[in-house]
Amino acid sequence: KIVPVVAIDGPSGVGKGTLCQALANYLKWHLLDSGAIYRVLALSALEKNIALDDENQLTNLALNLPLTFDSNDIEVKVLLSGVDVTKRIRTEETGGAASKVAALNKVRSALLQRQRDFRQAPGLIADGRDMGSVVFSDAPVKIFLDASAQSRAERRMKQLQHRQKHVKFAEILQEITERDERDRNRAVAPLKPAIDALIIDTTSLSIQDVFNQSIKYINEKL
Ligand code: C5P
Repeated sequence: KIVPVVAIDGPSGVGKGTLCQALANYLKWHLLDSGAIYRVLALSALEKNIALDDENQLTNLALNLPLTFDSNDIEVKVLLSGVDVTKRIRTEETGGAASKVAALNKVRSALLQRQRDFRQAPGLIADGRDMGSVVFSDAPVKIFLDASAQSRAERRMKQLQHRQKHVKFAEILQEITERDERDRNRAVAPLKPAIDALIIDTTSLSIQDVFNQSIKYINEKL
């Protein structure tokens, strides 16, 4: 029997992480945070002084990346060589670096199987940019979340303020816009809805609204 996948894609700050965690808890399915893989790869490259456009070295790093996810009901810890990097990978700086390494074709290929290995019974919630279009193109349920850059920057701002980080709104907005442009315009696996994806504009929706719409759609499709 084929293990079902719910593929959830969309730009940064759109609320995918929150939705995916909630869906995985509710359905008691596995969760793949594919962005965390690109973030850990970028962090490791920065630590090793590998240039963010050195495709061959980055591909080798991707193939041998000592990355593990350590999850319980409440949180997912991300470990690099056994060291907890969960907080360090969440900075906007690492996000920007991640989007640079993620633009490289061979790097993406090197990470394909690692992502597909998360597809395990009873099911998988997959969070990313190309879950529905590339990695799980056969997923029975595909959802694409979108929202204005302004509202995504506002949400990111609130998240960072929660963590007592002092940030300027204009800077956040610019970083988000730049990262999105890179993700949307790259040659390989660009950020765009799969042809068979349900598009939800979350600009004026609450987390609960998005969750309810998603569950309804999943139940229809499965
Ligand atoms: O989702 P998150 O913000 O953690 O992703 C960080 C970066 O990793 C994205 O900006 C994108 O460039 C890249 N990424 C990707 N494909 C995915 C997930 C993330 O290219 N499936």
